[in-house]
Amino acid sequence: MRRSLIAIAAISLTLATACSKPSAGEVEKERPAALGGAAQETQASAESKGHSDPEGELGEGQAADDTLVSLVNKKHPLDKAYVPEDLVPVDVPTVLDNPEVNQLRKEAAAALSKMFDAASEDGVKLYARSGYRSYKTQEALFASYSAREGEEAANRYSARAGQSEHQTGLAMDVTSESVSFQLDEAFGETTEGRWLAEHAHEYGFIIRYPQGKEDITGYIYEPWHVRFLGVRLAASVYESGLTYEEFVGEGIE
Ligand SMILES: [Zn+2]
Repeated sequence: MRRSLIAIAAISLTLATACSKPSAGEVEKERPAALGGAAQETQASAESKGHSDPEGELGEGQAADDTLVSLVNKKHPLDKAYVPEDLVPVDVPTVLDNPEVNQLRKEAAAALSKMFDAASEDGVKLYARSGYRSYKTQEALFASYSAREGEEAANRYSARAGQSEHQTGLAMDVTSESVSFQLDEAFGETTEGRWLAEHAHEYGFIIRYPQGKEDITGYIYEPWHVRFLGVRLAASVYESGLTYEEFVGEGIE
């Protein structure tokens, strides 16, 4: 499993980054062309190798897909032209008007719905703030943060185009009314943030940028940013207590 994940990392699209805090330019609708990169050609998938997905954790009728477990970060960026082919609107409460960011890949969107429903049953109300972001949207966002706070500062919490995990269509920034629907570190200490940290893996997501792991992930603590990996893999990463970089043996440095 580890070996196959490394293979994936090596060939994986390109990576990007973390979230981006607040508002700014989460607002474009451009969509580059098709999938770039070799990810499709390899079959070193953690999910496909050795696992037959007996419980259907990968989603109904879906074949295992390497791109679902791609490591994307500052060292492993995504191709400029990469756009997931199965983006769908999320069916959960959202914050922003831009339809682009209210999308995820099909399997991730379905898992997000299950997770939000489960939270709701526990009396916890979650909101989806920013999911898929195109290369161009990320480019505009990073430029806006850089102009405001300087490139170095921006690089700690936002991603350069191609280096954002949001371009994979597998990452979502989750927020709550208790933090005014913003992306704030304080979210981690709220009822909603604690619920997310405790249960995300049960639905196939991990808290991608844990506290104290900036040197490894390349990003500050982002209790709001979850990444879909499928239930089995997310649970393994959660139980390992490692960042995804450490789990696949590929840090950013
Ligand atoms: Zn994010």
